[in-house]
Amino acid sequence: MSLSYPEHVKSKLAQLFPEQTEYLQAVNELIDNLNIDKAWYSRIESDNMLERLFLPDRIINFNVQWRDDNGKVNINQGWRVQHSNLIGPYKGGLRFHPSVNESVLKFLALEQTFKNALTGLPIGGAKGGSNFDPKGKSQGEILRFCQAFMDELYRYIGPNTDIPAGDINVGSREIGFLFGRYKKITNQFDGALTGKNVAFGGSQARIESTGYGVIYFIEEALKRYKQSLASQRVLISGSGNVALHAAKKAIKAGATVITLSNSEGVCVNSDGFKLAMIDNLIEENTRPALDKLAEKLGAEWHADETPWSFNADIAIPCATQNELSSEDAKLLIDNGISYVFEGANMPCSAEAIELFERNEVLFAPAKAVNSGGVITSTLEMGQNAIFFPESFESVSEKLRALMSDIHKRCVRDNDKSYLKGANNAALSRLLIAMTEQGV
Ligand code: NDP
Repeated sequence: MSLSYPEHVKSKLAQLFPEQTEYLQAVNELIDNLNIDKAWYSRIESDNMLERLFLPDRIINFNVQWRDDNGKVNINQGWRVQHSNLIGPYKGGLRFHPSVNESVLKFLALEQTFKNALTGLPIGGAKGGSNFDPKGKSQGEILRFCQAFMDELYRYIGPNTDIPAGDINVGSREIGFLFGRYKKITNQFDGALTGKNVAFGGSQARIESTGYGVIYFIEEALKRYKQSLASQRVLISGSGNVALHAAKKAIKAGATVITLSNSEGVCVNSDGFKLAMIDNLIEENTRPALDKLAEKLGAEWHADETPWSFNADIAIPCATQNELSSEDAKLLIDNGISYVFEGANMPCSAEAIELFERNEVLFAPAKAVNSGGVITSTLEMGQNAIFFPESFESVSEKLRALMSDIHKRCVRDNDKSYLKGANNAALSRLLIAMTEQGV
């Protein structure tokens, strides 16, 4: 039996990139959850639109050579995956983590392309980073690494070409170092990077925006069921930028946040973390030592465990990809979870998502839920282009409205599944751009 066109694309990409498991996972998740309109189907097949859409435009790979504090020269791999500029300049974060490789960045760039299309804003999709591990590195080493990374990357970016931002282990400190080097090499002060400090062109509310956006989306979703966050018990994983700001906003809305985690374990506070404590962690702006925090609070510390075995109403994975497996999903379902919202990118495995959807747990994917960061980054690009900053209130208001529009687009396209709704709404926009622009 001959394969349908979407199945043919899946199988061809699997043959081309057999080792790229994360990339293939993202391709399959997208293709399996698309409802291709009959009117479009033959055009999509004859113009091979899915394959064109799922393959990145280009992948740039470079060596990053930097000297450590002992005088030794180290080499890391650096990448920029420019996935698609169909609807705007390439846009997406940079990640520094030992787990970074081409497959991880290709999945992130593909997801970013769909996420950005879903925002309704004029931004294409990209992702980049390095397998550099910043853990245990001095400030000087981080600075020299960022400078060496930019010495290669600057050739490929610019305010109308490709605009990188932060991601795991790339916060405003690293963006500052990268921007300083970009400016020096190019002699341009422009919006080629977002996530900058507000003192030199960064947007108000950028740091808060992904986590806050997650909660704005959740509030919209709960409204459909005449519910609110007040007195919901919430499991959050991670304790980085997204996790802490989501926790802060959830607590402000009356929720009880009972977990925070990191790669070493989970801190469980069954009475709920207090707002002042989350504020302290945000202000400290360093990786929180959650085991020490648990001790200080009289909370529980479970080394090498995740939040998914504890009882709650809502789960918000905010750490990293594939951190929630099918076994975790079963535990959550058995414990009566009602909602799962992805704060991180692709934190739930394909099998976990299938289990949630089959067991009527309301599931919403990252490309809808965590777009707050890229939305505020796009507002930052606008502020840089017109040399005029916006207030915190103005940015927050726009963020809330745009998150609400994303929620509406998902529901309009499919009122049963946020996953299908998000994929299809994004796909429609990308297909129009592809058709109108020709091959
Ligand atoms: P941070 O670097 O600020 O925090 C990452 C958190 O995840 C840390 O607590 C880290 O713990 C934990 N973590 C990382 N790897 C693992 C692992 N293998 N197992 C368990 N915990 C782990 O990153 P962000 O908060 O910025 O990003 C988190 C997620 O959100 C990522 O998927 C990112 O792509 C996504 N995202 C981020 C956006 C942003 O604006 N920052 C925008 C949109 C999406 P430890 O300290 O031990 O490493």
